[in-house]
Amino acid sequence: MSKFIPLSVPNIRGNEIKYVTETLESEWVSTGGAMIEKFEKNMAEYVHSKGAVACQSGTAGLHLALRYLGVNENDAVIVPTLTFIAAVNPVKYEHAEPVFMDCDDSLCMDPIKLRKYLETECYCENGKVMDRELNRQIKAIVVVHVFGNMADMESIMEIADEYHLPVIEDATESIGTYYIDGKYKGMYAGTIGTIGVYSFNGNKIMTTGGGGMVISQSSEILEKVKYLSTQAKDDTVNFIHNEIGFNYRMTNLQAAVGLAQLERLEEFIETKKRNYWHYKNELDSIDGIQILDFRKDIRSNYWFYSLMLSNPKDKQKIIDGLMKNSIQSRPIWGLISKQLPYVNSKTYDIEKAEYYFDRIVNIPCSTNLCDEDVTYVIDVIKRLVGGFNG
Ligand SMILES: *Cc1c(COP(=O)(O)O)cnc(C)c1O
Repeated sequence: MSKFIPLSVPNIRGNEIKYVTETLESEWVSTGGAMIEKFEKNMAEYVHSKGAVACQSGTAGLHLALRYLGVNENDAVIVPTLTFIAAVNPVKYEHAEPVFMDCDDSLCMDPIKLRKYLETECYCENGKVMDRELNRQIKAIVVVHVFGNMADMESIMEIADEYHLPVIEDATESIGTYYIDGKYKGMYAGTIGTIGVYSFNGNKIMTTGGGGMVISQSSEILEKVKYLSTQAKDDTVNFIHNEIGFNYRMTNLQAAVGLAQLERLEEFIETKKRNYWHYKNELDSIDGIQILDFRKDIRSNYWFYSLMLSNPKDKQKIIDGLMKNSIQSRPIWGLISKQLPYVNSKTYDIEKAEYYFDRIVNIPCSTNLCDEDVTYVIDVIKRLVGGFNG
């Protein structure tokens, strides 16, 4: 079989072309137009949030969130180390320092270590939380919902409330994931913290080519973020700007794609779920490998599948072996605290992130995969692992 099976590619088979054509014909191609507002409204309705502000990328959304919270060069922001670097770089855009936190078995931030860090390395003064060693104020916590999973938001929000710290939810990978049990039952990833951010990059569960969205239950936050994303216009007629803004608004053309993608999101999730269980039912019984679980108390969007290897030595062998069979896979991200711009930044007891980094390979998860594709990937993995074991 020589058909190439990519890791994660978009699925553009709905009303995308129709809506884009309509948008082109309307000549509203830039950052104004009805598609943007409709996309914001429909997304907000879908995740039950007060509103939404569409922007150029998830990275831009995270930057706007930090800017809204007033993060500056005197501050520090708690971030995960096991994530994509876009979750952390905006901290540096604002000349603040990250403090890197470990993950738990959900691959998301470990609330137990978060609490321990705040209790042992920080002190509170005049309503501020200060890191003793850095002599910086902790201004916010960035929580990433990794691979369609959800962080333990009940514990994290309890800690954040206790310390009066705002929480930015990087829900770029978890659009459509929501709690089905517990305190936050019915609430979607991105709508629980102070500010949530989505991404519509090409590899995410739904795409606008490139794009992002900021969501919040506070209309004050939404208004301010929109203002910052559109060059901070205080008077649109006379060009009065009382702050530094950004050119971060989504275009009407991108929003047209997003509207069509959103129409199919539940179908995408259904397909991802079916393929996830196909992999899991076939592979979990094999010695030395396992498909990682999502939290039991959520409806996941099943965005990315994590093949977990007992032996770290098999990681590269699996990736190479799959590629030889025309199957694309990838290792999980290198820890951000080990990347060159961050090697001198503060870390707190990183341990599980290393463990999972050594053992996880992400395997094909596109919504275009048919049952035969998944069966083929499973057969190749079985053959490769059989080779290691025998
Ligand atoms: C994709 C992603 C982002 C960034 O989104 P872009 O739209 O590509 O800027 C941020 N954080 C995480 C965890 C991501 O996976």
